[in-house]
Amino acid sequence: MLRYVSTRGAAPPLDFTGVLLAGLAADGGLYVPERTPQLSPADLRALRGASYAEIVTTACRPFVAGALPDGVFERCVTAAYERFAHPATAPLKQLAANDWLLELFHGPTLAFKDFALQLLGLLFAEVLERQDESVTIVGATSGDTGSAAIHAVAGRPRMRIVILHPRGRVSEIQRRQMTTVPEANVFNVALEGTFDDCQALVKALFNDTAFRAEARLAAVNSINWARILAQIAYYVAAAVALGAPDREVGFSVPTGNFGDAYAGYVASRMGLPIRRLVVATNRNDILARFLATGRYAPGTVEPTVSPSMDIQVASNFERLLFDLLRRNGAAVRSWMLGFAADGVACVDAPTLARISGLFAAHRVDDVATMTTMARVLRTTGELVDPHTAVGLAAAEACRPPRHVAMVTLATAHPAKFPDAVEQATGARPRLPDALADLFERPERFTVLANDLDALRAYIRAEVLNSA
Ligand SMILES: *Cc1c(COP(=O)(O)O)cnc(C)c1O
Repeated sequence: MLRYVSTRGAAPPLDFTGVLLAGLAADGGLYVPERTPQLSPADLRALRGASYAEIVTTACRPFVAGALPDGVFERCVTAAYERFAHPATAPLKQLAANDWLLELFHGPTLAFKDFALQLLGLLFAEVLERQDESVTIVGATSGDTGSAAIHAVAGRPRMRIVILHPRGRVSEIQRRQMTTVPEANVFNVALEGTFDDCQALVKALFNDTAFRAEARLAAVNSINWARILAQIAYYVAAAVALGAPDREVGFSVPTGNFGDAYAGYVASRMGLPIRRLVVATNRNDILARFLATGRYAPGTVEPTVSPSMDIQVASNFERLLFDLLRRNGAAVRSWMLGFAADGVACVDAPTLARISGLFAAHRVDDVATMTTMARVLRTTGELVDPHTAVGLAAAEACRPPRHVAMVTLATAHPAKFPDAVEQATGARPRLPDALADLFERPERFTVLANDLDALRAYIRAEVLNSA
């Protein structure tokens, strides 16, 4: 059975079900697999023509083998991707001679986060049932994660979910995707504060060990290994469709917390022939700067037209750092402590050189994002969302040679960000039919002050006492 170790080397190793429920490791690190399972060229050839669920099962099974009874993982995978609106689940669309769009927005909430969270909800249900446990999932959202998590958990037994969003600071579509879900185990809090306030409160709640045990708190944010795992599969699916293992592919990944791009890195380590992995950022470009210079120094978060990428400290960066520092947990620990103390930390040139053959990075400002949306509509007839446009602009800037297929991850449906898309292109994207009545559905949420006691009292009174 594959074991998982903490990036800081001082927490007990766990199996897959352990990391699924643990979130952060006890030493403050993130869990990573002790070794990386391999996909051989023959394994990849055998996936040609396979369904999306079959590809997920084959690519991900070695990471969960032994931790779940036979057949359980397969059943969860099948059920998770049945809820996607496109028969190919993650269809590839051709934009130019050898340039492709991987559409990751056909899930219930129209962003790629459904790929991981739909599966996570089912795996949680399975493990909680077997352990006869229940949990209260608490999280903060600036937009897409909250709705994807709510839609993954709504109506499932043994789980309640509380999502905090900053009142008045998420788009109306994003808010309604959370607040119109009628199931009784869903609780939305509109916090009088910013996204950072929401996140700080959630963190404080988890740090209250007594309350954490009382409410059996659980997290589904992107530090959860299972989210990374689920995202590996679409890299494999796209590469196989475009000729892997016999042809190389490049990917351009609109990046915020570095979860998605890190999943591509893991796929490459498994043996997928990825010629180039482009980290595409908006003005919040800490990762692009790190990959260029080895210096990790956050600036202040600047709002952009691609708000789901408005992040400065990318939590999954620590997983990449673990490999860069030759999987030495003590070295990661002192590097992160230095970063926490000084607000900046570096790796030297030979260390950075270990990944610079694979990664490229490019920063795209709002003007370039908007002109890219307009150009893509003009040249291909496709409406793309602002996050995807960042990816497309970076793909063009960092393209490998023409014979390598270049795939940009389309991380959200354009109708999720209709104002920016209309401003850039003059065309207003339409919500898919399943969401056509979103603006007529009744909303349900509770407004709370930015106060830990108030949040604790709310959870005790409304959430823990619910059926
Ligand atoms: C979350 C999100 C991203 C960033 O993904 P990370 O895994 O955090 O790097 C990009 N685009 C959209 C639409 C998102 O919702």
